[in-house]
Amino acid sequence: MVRAIVGANWGDEGKGKLTDVFAESFDIVVRFQGGSNAGHTIINDYGEFALHQLPSGVFYPHVANVIGNGVALSVENFVEEIRVLEERKVPKPNIVISDRAQIVMPYHKLFDEYEEERLSNRKFGSTKSGIAPFYSDKYAKIGFQITELYEEKSVLLEKISQNIAAKNVILKYLYKKPEISIDEIYKKLMEYKLIITPYVADTFDFLYQAVKNNKNILLEGQLGALKDLDFGIYPMVTSSNTIAGYASVGTGIPPYEIKDIIAVVKAYSSAVGSGEFVSEIFGNKAEDLREKGGNSGEYGTTTNRPRRMGWLDLVATKYGCRVQSATQVAFTALDVLGYLDEIPVCVGYEIDGQKFDTFLPTAQLKNAAPVLQILPGWKCDIRGIRSYDELPANCRNYIEFTERQIGVPINIISNGPSRDDIIYR
Ligand code: GDP
Repeated sequence: MVRAIVGANWGDEGKGKLTDVFAESFDIVVRFQGGSNAGHTIINDYGEFALHQLPSGVFYPHVANVIGNGVALSVENFVEEIRVLEERKVPKPNIVISDRAQIVMPYHKLFDEYEEERLSNRKFGSTKSGIAPFYSDKYAKIGFQITELYEEKSVLLEKISQNIAAKNVILKYLYKKPEISIDEIYKKLMEYKLIITPYVADTFDFLYQAVKNNKNILLEGQLGALKDLDFGIYPMVTSSNTIAGYASVGTGIPPYEIKDIIAVVKAYSSAVGSGEFVSEIFGNKAEDLREKGGNSGEYGTTTNRPRRMGWLDLVATKYGCRVQSATQVAFTALDVLGYLDEIPVCVGYEIDGQKFDTFLPTAQLKNAAPVLQILPGWKCDIRGIRSYDELPANCRNYIEFTERQIGVPINIISNGPSRDDIIYR
């Protein structure tokens, strides 16, 4: 069985926690897109972890963790994440990296940083992990696939030299920064090769065999539907596709095998960085929600930036679930809302007096105001509750209202950050 866990909103929905909960009963956990530009927070017996590139199955010795071909592999960050696991006495995980994955080059990080500097107040709010320059090069066919590290030295040197020639023109004339040398890049690539060789494998074949042998495979998405390169709030999106459908590209698993797609929806909204966010709230209301969600990490896992806060946007969430092809929803962080007398939710958008109940392209969203509906709060702490029927009536009402609006069954409810804070309906 192949299951995907993906985000329906702007990211930080709690995918990490859910993947961690499910990873235990799976044979294989796979990352299929993105890189170290976002993180999953996982809290378990070994402590609290921010995983950026490593699949969430690394805490279970029986799980094979696959870094798929769609991932932007930063070797430095990979090494660092492994080091943290070792330091916290996590048993050595079983990790395989696709030989077709491409490598984040040292100059990708530099270009990310320099471009943000150049754009100044028009910047994207990048995490400066080199992700946009990485995917630009991948699509321009000048990226470095892991297999290329095993080419003859002369072949590799020639490719590096061609790449560097173009990069150095930009470095020198556009960014006015020091140029990079062929030797320096070649040496780095050889260091990377040494580090990753024990992990590299033909993961396409590995996953093909696994599907054939009915293994349980968990596909782990990063960021949310609204950050998808095609379907998100372009251009304030990430540089890869965050949708479950892309998992087929980023791993080679046949699309028709991805039968179960859990879209993770957070009970309120938050977003890191700029971009359209119709149900955003400001001032004390935002501050209160950020503080209540504080221990649920309303500060970016990668950047520690305070997140922008808002009410649950049902228009965006319905769209997010559709874009993800969700078969079911996991509704998270419901415990955070226990302090509110009344809970507004966004059920539509209004532009120049005209109402919409569908998500719109970015240019139109700029002028949209939220149409809010007020639902009654439940005014108590719901952490520790383990069965759906024990939830307060107003809380069940909030869940069922959401379910009707988005049209996808909410089968899983998360009422706290730890593994045990979960209710199956
Ligand atoms: P991801 O980016 O979707 O993987 O989001 P994370 O898994 O990193 O979750 C974001 C934050 O929410 C983390 O600090 C989690 O511990 C926390 N979290 C996840 N589920 C819940 C929940 O149900 N309630 C609360 N209060 N926090 C949660």
